[in-house]
Amino acid sequence: MRTTYDAIIIGGGVIGCSIAYELCKQNKRMLLLEKETIGSKASSAAAGMLGAEMEFKTDHPLYSLAKESRDSFSSLSQELFNVCGIDIELIQKGIYELAFTEEEADELKREAAKRQDQGEAVFWLPAHDLLRKEPALSPLVKGALYFEKDGQVSPVKLTRALYQSAEILGAEIKEHTEVVQLLQTGNRVTGVITTKETFHADSVIVAGGVWSSDLEPSLKMVPVKGECLSFKTQRPLLTGTVKYKNCYLVPKRENTIFVGATSTPHVFDEEVTFSGLFELMEKTKQIVPELSGACFEKAWGGIRPQTESGIPYIGPHPHKEGLILATGHYRNGILLSAITGKRIADYMESEVYHS
Ligand SMILES: Cc1cc2nc3c(=O)[nH]c(=O)nc-3n(C[C@H](O)[C@H](O)[C@H](O)COP(=O)(O)OP(=O)(O)OC[C@H]3O[C@@H](n4cnc5c(N)ncnc54)[C@H](O)[C@@H]3O)c2cc1C
Repeated sequence: MRTTYDAIIIGGGVIGCSIAYELCKQNKRMLLLEKETIGSKASSAAAGMLGAEMEFKTDHPLYSLAKESRDSFSSLSQELFNVCGIDIELIQKGIYELAFTEEEADELKREAAKRQDQGEAVFWLPAHDLLRKEPALSPLVKGALYFEKDGQVSPVKLTRALYQSAEILGAEIKEHTEVVQLLQTGNRVTGVITTKETFHADSVIVAGGVWSSDLEPSLKMVPVKGECLSFKTQRPLLTGTVKYKNCYLVPKRENTIFVGATSTPHVFDEEVTFSGLFELMEKTKQIVPELSGACFEKAWGGIRPQTESGIPYIGPHPHKEGLILATGHYRNGILLSAITGKRIADYMESEVYHS
């Protein structure tokens, strides 16, 4: 059995799986280690929004990266389907940020004007236009900022498609295998020690989500708990994703609507609380009143991996050779997964890496 690889990835969330897929496309011999099961943590708790323009203002350091990532999902979706036959359920119907007061409407109108000056496909939709597109919204809505190019995917299907495609292309994947320590010689990382055995590699990639700092204490991770729920409706109620303040409604296949999300920093548990659900349900009723008669499907919690700076670690460790970081994507790890996989794979092909 092989114990030496070009690269070892620690963590089988959407980030680790995306890197695995991209490295396999470059014919790297690679091993992915996951302490539980693939995609069982934050990546399966997500709503799957690809909100590049909704999430980031144009001067944000992640703005270009987020747009590039979002725009690559059309081809990625086709590519993954061709390799493994899984449809990641990409929906490109935009995201609406709603206004329910005149003040909110004025602020969003100003934002629309500013974004259009910067050449973005972001528009203000007055109530009558908005309600024509999304008639299930409350008649009390004043309008919405429309992020036409943003979209969404199924985060569970995306993670599954990435890891199955990586496996088809030759990746070795081991679940229920926890990395307990990085193997180091001087300032060079040379492999990992797991609960079962030791593996060696030219590069070790830490993609352990919020748990990444357990292995590399220089990473400053902040857990941010989020709770979500879903409803089943008799008929399709929404076409695009709608967002009001910190509540979003994401229409999925088979008349399912995901509602998210609470946000509680520094909390590590994944429990669903009464107050969390109550807060989301109250907002849901305000946004789409008809949903109060919908059938409750399920509720869940997850932990977003944030960094102290708010910017993810993507790239080589500044002081440890052979160690690559890919963690801290906070509330945008699904959106940023595509570009993160590509950037890490590009780095490992680059002259800097080989020098
Ligand atoms: C409620 C909620 C809603 C969200 N909605 C969205 C959204 O709409 N759009 C969006 O873009 N993002 C969203 N996110 C954020 C997104 O889910 C995360 O940013 C993303 O899933 C992070 O992926 P990851 O692979 O870094 O982490 P994870 O999915 O947490 O994966 C890390 C993996 O590493 C494993 N691991 C850790 N340590 C070790 C070890 N020592 N050995 C082996 N394995 C290890 C863990 O078991 C885990 O499976 C949401 C998150 C939450 C919680």
